[in-house]
Amino acid sequence: MKVTFLGTGTSQGIPVIACNCDVCKSENEKDKRLRVSVLIEHHGKHIVIDSGPDFRQQMLRANVQQLDAVVFTHEHKDHIAGLDDVRAFNFKQKKDMDVYATSQVQESLKREFYYAFEEKKYPGVPLLKLHTVTNDVFKIGEVSLLPINVYHYKMPVKAYRIDNFTYITDANKIDEVELEKIKGSEVIVINALRKEAHISHFTLQEAVQLLMELKPKKAYLTHVSHLLGRHEEVQKELPDFIQIAHDGLEITLT
Ligand SMILES: [Zn+2]
Ligand SMILES: [Zn+2]
Repeated sequence: MKVTFLGTGTSQGIPVIACNCDVCKSENEKDKRLRVSVLIEHHGKHIVIDSGPDFRQQMLRANVQQLDAVVFTHEHKDHIAGLDDVRAFNFKQKKDMDVYATSQVQESLKREFYYAFEEKKYPGVPLLKLHTVTNDVFKIGEVSLLPINVYHYKMPVKAYRIDNFTYITDANKIDEVELEKIKGSEVIVINALRKEAHISHFTLQEAVQLLMELKPKKAYLTHVSHLLGRHEEVQKELPDFIQIAHDGLEITLT
């Protein structure tokens, strides 16, 4: 399985519009972050988790030639806004895009992209085939995804485990029974917004502490704010097994 980090930034991305802070002014490519998303390539399938506002740019930058499914974590705009651009894959692959989302997320998609769900569709609108995510394992081809329930303040969000890889974004609370589903993962990706407390995201400290308990072989931090600090400097403060992800980072799992 290959995982490509298409975006590792929080909702505003980095640089933030009109911000002149040290991080937003940094010339290090690792300090430039599009909105959060990953591409999973496994068993011949190409799957993205979330399609935020930078989806088009991410598909171009990573030269993605095939996309089999979009899997959503939750309905916030920074995770769904780019869905319209799956049209390119509709045309190329000559089929509807398989979209996996909870019924709550589907309600938002139907509001946000109402024109894609009309009885009589305007020509050229995105063609979407919705599949409902519950708590049960589901399969995309030979790829098995286990949904894990996490909380983003009070909003339910799905994390996903695929084999020994777990991807968690937009969380700040995970119940014990859900943690059990994560245990044993060799690689964990988890959100770490900044150092100061936040109402709906793990802080750096909280993410590190949770990773110390879960003990994966390797962990990557994502959904990073410009307030976290410069990639290079914050990386030095972390245990060896934890790496701050950056856009374009690719990892291979066996
Ligand atoms: Zn988010
Ligand atoms: Zn969110």
